[in-house]
Amino acid sequence: MSNAIIEVLLVEDDEDDYIITHDIFSEIEGTKFIIDWVRSYNAALEMMAQRQHDVYLFDYRLGEYTGLELLEQVRANGCQSPIIFLTGQSDHEVDIKAMEAGASDYLVKSQLTATLLERSIRYAIERTRKLEILQQRDEQIQRLAAIVESSADAIIGLTLDNTIINWNQSAERIFGYQANEVIGQSINILITKQIAYQFTELLDQHKQGLHIDNYEVICLTKAGKDIDLSLTISPIKGLSQEIIGTSIIARDITYTKRVEKALLKSEEKYRLLFEASPEAMWVYDIETLKFLAVNDAAIARYGYHYEEFLNMTICDIRPKEDVDRVLESVKNLQTSPMFSSNWRHYKKDGSLIWVDIASHTIQFNDRDARLVLAIDVTERKRAQEALIEERLMLTCRVEERTADLSLANAQLARAGQMKDEFLASMSHELRTPLNSIIGLSEALQEGVYGILNERQSTTLHIIEDSGYHLLSLINDILDLSKIEAGKFELTPDWIEVESLCQSSLAFVKQSATKKHLKISFIIDSQLDKIWADDRRLKQILVNLLSNAVKFTALGGTIGLEVTADAETQTAKFIIWDTGIGIAPEDLGRIFQPFVQVDSALSRQQSGTGLGLALISRMIDMHGGSISVESELYKGSRFTVSLPWQQEKLSTTNELFGENHSSLPNVIKRVLIVEDSSTTAEQLVRYLKDLQIETVVHFSENGVFEVVNRLRPELIFLDILLPEPVGWQILEQLKADITTNNIPVIIISVIDEKRRGLELGAADYLVKPITREQLQVVINKISPSTLLMVDSNMRLLPGNEKLAKDHSVNAKQRLILLAEDNESNIRTFSEYLEISGYKAIIARNGTEAITRARENSPDLILMDIQMPGMDGLEATRCIRADVELADIPIIALTALAMPGDRNRCLQAGVNEYLSKPVNLKGLITAIEVQLNRSQHAGSNAG
Ligand code: ADP
Repeated sequence: MSNAIIEVLLVEDDEDDYIITHDIFSEIEGTKFIIDWVRSYNAALEMMAQRQHDVYLFDYRLGEYTGLELLEQVRANGCQSPIIFLTGQSDHEVDIKAMEAGASDYLVKSQLTATLLERSIRYAIERTRKLEILQQRDEQIQRLAAIVESSADAIIGLTLDNTIINWNQSAERIFGYQANEVIGQSINILITKQIAYQFTELLDQHKQGLHIDNYEVICLTKAGKDIDLSLTISPIKGLSQEIIGTSIIARDITYTKRVEKALLKSEEKYRLLFEASPEAMWVYDIETLKFLAVNDAAIARYGYHYEEFLNMTICDIRPKEDVDRVLESVKNLQTSPMFSSNWRHYKKDGSLIWVDIASHTIQFNDRDARLVLAIDVTERKRAQEALIEERLMLTCRVEERTADLSLANAQLARAGQMKDEFLASMSHELRTPLNSIIGLSEALQEGVYGILNERQSTTLHIIEDSGYHLLSLINDILDLSKIEAGKFELTPDWIEVESLCQSSLAFVKQSATKKHLKISFIIDSQLDKIWADDRRLKQILVNLLSNAVKFTALGGTIGLEVTADAETQTAKFIIWDTGIGIAPEDLGRIFQPFVQVDSALSRQQSGTGLGLALISRMIDMHGGSISVESELYKGSRFTVSLPWQQEKLSTTNELFGENHSSLPNVIKRVLIVEDSSTTAEQLVRYLKDLQIETVVHFSENGVFEVVNRLRPELIFLDILLPEPVGWQILEQLKADITTNNIPVIIISVIDEKRRGLELGAADYLVKPITREQLQVVINKISPSTLLMVDSNMRLLPGNEKLAKDHSVNAKQRLILLAEDNESNIRTFSEYLEISGYKAIIARNGTEAITRARENSPDLILMDIQMPGMDGLEATRCIRADVELADIPIIALTALAMPGDRNRCLQAGVNEYLSKPVNLKGLITAIEVQLNRSQHAGSNAG
């Protein structure tokens, strides 16, 4: 203090007093005072606003103000510096007032000495300093108290005898006690009895100065509930560092404890799972790959002891070749669980097992480790392998079976194809001779070949009848097989019902008359037309009517009744008779093929039992049905119901416009392309009766030339010539702009009406053809242009040149006939001679070559199937011989198999004809070949 400078502001209105006071200051030794003097209240405030002094001396009287008022103002301005009053006289009351107002001292001027003044100033300064310190402490304490109060932890203060003296808000919250309930109480009210002793000991220990951190204890709340707390216990020290009490900071760790317990519990659970798992489990160190723990199942399965395991790495139980894969998979480990299959592990005994692995990263004893579950799938693997083997075997078997099946299928397809071929050749082979039988007997009866006597006529009639009978039988069989094979086709059209019924009745009229049967016919007038296949519907009616006639005794009645029901859109054809009837037990069977009722009466009648079977299928194909009612000896009644729509009728009138039927004779010239002379002659006769001229062309070759030359108004075209090339001819005729307007009517032994119509034919007739059929189709055709032949098959103008060429050529030509069948040799050679050729014979291939070399024939007819060297071989030899190579060869074969034609052509034949060979067709073929070779020869020459 002695060197310190003390700045003083003296507020004194009296100059003399100032001088006295200043002098007294100067008497004070050791302390330097800087004294500022102001004389008034306001000057004092001004000065104080400018700077602060260490101490203020105020005269008690300051003009109109008192020193007290100045003090109050100074304190109000925030100044805390010590203020000492100087006054003229001692006044105890003023003295008290000044002290109360905050003055540090009160000095009487008259008694003022240097010592007194110095002491008073020093005391005032010191007091102010201490007051400041106290104030700061107070603030600090308040701050601390606020911190204590706002702490989330309970803060409890204890005296040395463990009495609670502090209790903050969190303590209230945690323990449930208000401060006033616990202050003054022992800490033991918070401690459970079980640990009270232990806790007191702990508190005693810490009183030695020990600081205790995170002491976990269970305490009691006011509500008697256990509460987990973590305590920090510290001694409270007095000013001289002596321990005067204890502070306890208690943190509520109930939640943490709960989590810990749950964790412990789950750890326990997992430990149990690990231990008790029936599958091998282990933990290995991700870094060293060493086993860190294994369960009993692993020990049992792998055969290693626990310690042995712990001395191994996970690579030690793998086959060497798998180690790289193991290391790779460890390298790529993710923390998430992983599953992988197809691992192989060695057991201690050296055997290999297959395992699937599930693994998960865990912390184990502070190491990054992997928990592994290894499931032994060796058995499953074996089963799978067995299964795969089994499957392979099955696949093989299936393949074998498939191969067998494909073979069987191929065989079936082949069988189907053979059946089709058989059907086609049946229809051809059976209908062709029948066609001749029927056609020729008819021609003979008509006197074409001369006048017949009555016996001859009757005999021929029998032949013709039998021919027709046979034909219908063949037709039935073929139709039935076609239906069975799904190859039967209907060609429906709008047909006039009444005329169909009339013509069907006409069919049975003769036989009915013979038996003196009455015929009844009733037709519903609204039933004008029906959409059906006319030929088949007629076949149905004729069949039922014929049966009616057949099974009705002399003098009985048969009838045809046709009704129409617009509502049900049905037309009904009822064929009834008063004949022998059918027993109830037989009614169900009569629609089966080859079934005839075995009764004395019906056995008197001929038949095949095919008719009803066939027509019932046809009716079915029309979308209709057939039913029968019958009573023995009373008669039968067959009802055929067919779909019928009235409203369509009017739209179709044009199709069968009457104009067509009234213009039959507009056609003047018809070309018949037909290899069968019988059919051709028959057609020529029928057409002649209609005053139509005809030209017959016997071969499939040159049809276009003839058509273009003759410009016929109508063409009759056979399909089998004898190959089914008629289809191509039809297509070509229809494709060519110069010929496509000429109507073509197909005549064929094969029944493929739909195909014919689709290809553009105007109509389709199945041989043998009747006059009526021809009349009907001709009536349908509208006129165009043409020219003709006479009934003796003499060729008319356009064909005369060709005929002339034939005979001119023929007379000069030598034909070599290579054929082994004697009857064929006779037929062919005679026909060749008649036609003006010279024929020489060879009976096998070798002979044919020799004869050819000896005679240089103009043409060779070569049978293919011959003993020794066959026709194909002989052809090849001839073609290889320079001398003979140019001779035209026509192959004749009895086996019309697919591919035969090509084989023959490849061997070198010029033409191919299958037997039975149509003789006229043969001549045409010979002529074509001779003409060609002549042209070739002259060109070469
Ligand atoms: P079939 O050619 O033998 O007449 P169908 O199939 O036409 O063959 O008839 C089968 C059988 O049904 C006949 O043999 C006959 O026994 C019996 N049947 C058919 N129609 C009549 C009928 N109108 N009256 C009596 N029996 C009939």
